[in-house]
Amino acid sequence: MDQKPIYDVVILGCGPAGIQAAIHASRKKASVLMLGRLNKSSLFWAHVENFMGMFKTSGEEMLTTGLAQAKSFGTEVLEEDALHITPAGRLFDIETESGNLVSARSLVIATGSTRNKLGVPGEKELLGKGVSYCVDCDGGFFRGEDVAIVGGQSAAAGGALTLLALAGSVHLVAEALEVSPALKAKLVQSGAILHEGAKVKAIHGERQVTGLELTDGTILPVAGVFIELGAKGVLELAAALGLNLDESMRYIDTDKRQATNVPGVYAAGDICGAPLQMAKAVGEGCVAGTNAATYAKNMKVAQEGPAED
Ligand SMILES: Cc1cc2nc3c(=O)[nH]c(=O)nc-3n(C[C@H](O)[C@H](O)[C@H](O)COP(=O)(O)OP(=O)(O)OC[C@H]3O[C@@H](n4cnc5c(N)ncnc54)[C@H](O)[C@@H]3O)c2cc1C
Repeated sequence: MDQKPIYDVVILGCGPAGIQAAIHASRKKASVLMLGRLNKSSLFWAHVENFMGMFKTSGEEMLTTGLAQAKSFGTEVLEEDALHITPAGRLFDIETESGNLVSARSLVIATGSTRNKLGVPGEKELLGKGVSYCVDCDGGFFRGEDVAIVGGQSAAAGGALTLLALAGSVHLVAEALEVSPALKAKLVQSGAILHEGAKVKAIHGERQVTGLELTDGTILPVAGVFIELGAKGVLELAAALGLNLDESMRYIDTDKRQATNVPGVYAAGDICGAPLQMAKAVGEGCVAGTNAATYAKNMKVAQEGPAED
């Protein structure tokens, strides 16, 4: 029997868009789980003076207060990234970085935008010739090859585990590994070759990637370099769910209801594109949270009949 808890709304992202979505969905009496980390929000380190009603405040303070507000309305919070999302009939199954499994009737994707370039020689030149920013999209091209993945958060750690099933060997290069203890333990046992505390100097190759050079002079002889800085990003989530992206292929396409092309999946905030501003994120979070809660409620009414008051 399936023991996974089922939430009306699961929100990916704990920034202003996700928190506002949580507040609105919870106040509509939906059961809400919010994933993500406050200190990974772009707003966390910001000083804000352009938000209506506030002359000057810190992003950290706004996020901390917003999170407490969402919890006071019933939102549950798990400070972890979603690693995998799979459509399961009319529900969505979500696996977090510690291996927690939950299901959702509707999803709000509010994971922000990642500025995920390494900025080293060879990165731009070898893009598409062994350099990739998406394990789930390009991992299959490296069957049996030796590859490296660069990054210290869930995207890189989860990516390394995915690549182990495909590639010959997998090097994980991380200046600092910032993942849950459970995911770190899984990595250590996995067979991935960890280079913790290492920094990348350059990517080598002419027509194809031939190696990854670290700042201590080590050259890892690899055919592929996956750059996965930050948390699991838009490309991977979009690929798994079949979401339409905009022309730049960086942002999720939504309509005025913040609905994506996949029924039950909504998106809000920086992940939907410019302007990358909190006021827009909050507005879109309100719309997405409200519509996600309504979607889940309608699904329950269709399946179980109206709730008794
Ligand atoms: C230095 C700086 C200063 C800024 N100053 C201002 C300002 O003064 N005024 C203004 O309006 N805007 C400002 N901004 C922009 C503002 O911070 C962003 O527009 C806003 O934070 C976007 O909100 P968001 O909720 O879409 O994403 P974010 O706030 O970036 O939050 C993303 C969330 O998603 C989570 N996440 C990511 N991947 C996953 C995953 N796989 N699973 C679960 N969770 C995940 C993260 O942990 C994080 O909690 C500033 C930004 C920066 C970088």
